[in-house]
Formats: sequence, C-alpha cells, structure tokens
Amino acid sequence: MHRPLRLKCSKDALAGNWRWLAERAQTACAAAVKADGYGLGARSVTDILLDAGCRDFFVSTWWEADQLGSLPHDASLAVLHGLGPDDGVAASRIRARPVLNSAQQIRRWKEIAGDRCCDVMIDTGMNRLGLRQEQSDALDGLRIHTLHSHLACADEDHPLNEDQLARFRDAAATIPAERYSLANSAGIMLGPDYGFDLVRPGLALYGGIPRPEAREHIQQVARIEAQVVQRRTIRRGESCGYSATLVAGEDTEAAIINIGYADGYWRGFSASGRAYHAGSDLPVLGRVSMDLVAIDCDAVPHLQEGDWVELDFTLEEASAQSGKSQYELLTGLGDRFERSWH
Ligand SMILES: *Cc1c(COP(=O)(O)O)cnc(C)c1O
Repeated sequence: MHRPLRLKCSKDALAGNWRWLAERAQTACAAAVKADGYGLGARSVTDILLDAGCRDFFVSTWWEADQLGSLPHDASLAVLHGLGPDDGVAASRIRARPVLNSAQQIRRWKEIAGDRCCDVMIDTGMNRLGLRQEQSDALDGLRIHTLHSHLACADEDHPLNEDQLARFRDAAATIPAERYSLANSAGIMLGPDYGFDLVRPGLALYGGIPRPEAREHIQQVARIEAQVVQRRTIRRGESCGYSATLVAGEDTEAAIINIGYADGYWRGFSASGRAYHAGSDLPVLGRVSMDLVAIDCDAVPHLQEGDWVELDFTLEEASAQSGKSQYELLTGLGDRFERSWH
C-alpha cells in the first residue's frame, strides 16, 4: 500500500558513524539498539552494524531482545533492565545476558543461571539503575562478563563526569570481570580515559550530536520526506491552521503536507520547522496539526499535489526548532513512515 510519508535511512552513514566512534574511543564499540534502534528499526540497524564489525548490542527489555531475533554466534546481546520478577521464562529461553542492577536481581539470576555469565551495572553517581559499590559482596559467585556503569552528565562539562570516572576505576580495580564499560555516545567524546574495554553509543550512531566535538564527524542517518496533499493560496489577512496563529501579511502560497505530531513531527516545529524542495527553503506556517503541516511554497511555483518535500531533520537544528531532545525526535518517529535503508 502506498504511504505518503517516508523515512529514508543511510547504511553508509550509520556504519560510518559506528566506525568513527570506535576509532575515537580506541576500544571495542557496541551499539544500543533499544527503543527499536532509536526509532529507525532495530533489526535493520543490527544487521548493518554486524556487517560493519559490531559484535555487542544492547536492548532495554527481554521483550526487545525477543523482537530483535537471533544474532550470529560471535555476537552478543545484553538486556539493560536486568532480570525482573517476570523475566525468568524469557531469560531461560533467549540467549542474552542480563545486566543485573540490584541484589534482588542477582539472587534471582543465581537461581536460574547455572554457569551462564551475566553483566552487572554499578551505580557511580547517577542513582538510576545499578548496585551501590558497597553492595559488591552480592557479586560473589557470579561470572561477570562485562561490568558497567553509566554517566549522568557526559553531554555537559560537569564535575560529576570525573567523579564517576574515579569511582568506576575503583570498582574496576576490585570487582573481577572480563570487560569494563562506562561510556555512552557523549562519554566517548570525553576522551579515551572513559573508553575502558567497551563503549556503548546509541544517539551518535543514529546521527545525533551528543557534544560539539562530534559535529564535524557524525553524519545524518535519517531523512524525512512527506507528500503534498494540497496546494492553496492564503490570501492577505486570512489565517492558516488551528488557532489561526498565522495571519498572512500578503498573499502566500502554501503546500499542505502529509505529516504531523502523530508521526513525531512535534508541535514545537510550529512556525519554526523547515522543509526543502529543489534547493529552496520552505518554512512551516502556523501550527503543526496531528496529520498535516502547512509550508510556505512561494519559492517553488511548480510544487503541486503528489510532490515530495524533505523536512529538515538534522538533529541538532531540529532539536533547537522543536524544543525536543535529539533522543525524543528519533524515538518519537511514528509507525506511519515507510522506512527504507539504502
Ligand atoms: C541508552 C544507553 C546507552 C546509549 O546512550 P546514548 O546517550 O544514546 O549514546 C548507553 N548505556 C546505557 C546504560 C544506556 O541506557
């Protein structure tokens, strides 16, 4: 069935971003593919990154691990939320490691695991998931594959970054594991000290700019295109869209395009987003609706019903335009897009 909305993703950009992050980190580089690969399609992302050489993947839940399907035998999958009270059956059936986050999860795992290895998350200052360092007695008898912690403020220059690094070094010196891992995308930018044996980027793989250091190197992965539903003239003095927030100061040519906040093109793009066609900038007019957006097409006299326009979705700019984080922009992309990779 024809869809009037497309999400076009670049394999080369995704693989190139992964390679650049791996090089920058100077250590092994994993991929966070939770939230359906940050909205782009976890299975496609995983297959492309497997081809590029990635061997470590992270999802949040066992349901996501199940949805992802199998990986080659030399690749591994870990489940960040660990082993909850309802995860026993999935964990026995699915070949993935839980990232154990609490003494309770560790007890639960010991009951079902036999000699299977697991990952462990320790908290070094974020106070979200993870065992406190003084609870490390609970780790006795576990076969720890990778010991993790997670940075709370890596996208800023914040004193907590160095505090967390120091605490993680202490933990790494006292808790035996095959590998140690601390950095997300922004953490990689903080320098090789933060790399340890494995880094776990998500956002930057998908074209997000976690810190200015990445700006010249990370390529846009996802592009959005929407089809024109109708072209019309808004006459001088008339309004356009809900709440009549736009009143035309002069006759204005508008194209009404097939995208809206139900697709993750948020209301924050009202009067601030931009589309492109044939090299011209087409600013968003008035308020974004659920399924429709009006754009100014004075610059493109020949633009008509059925034509396609691209919406600016370079994540840093789109984040500034919409007031949403780059993470929200990616993971908010709805299921009405025809997703393709080329
Ligand atoms: C989501 C997540 C990541 C990836 O973070 P980005 O900021 O997207 O690079 C890494 N580690 C953990 C524990 C996560 O939850």
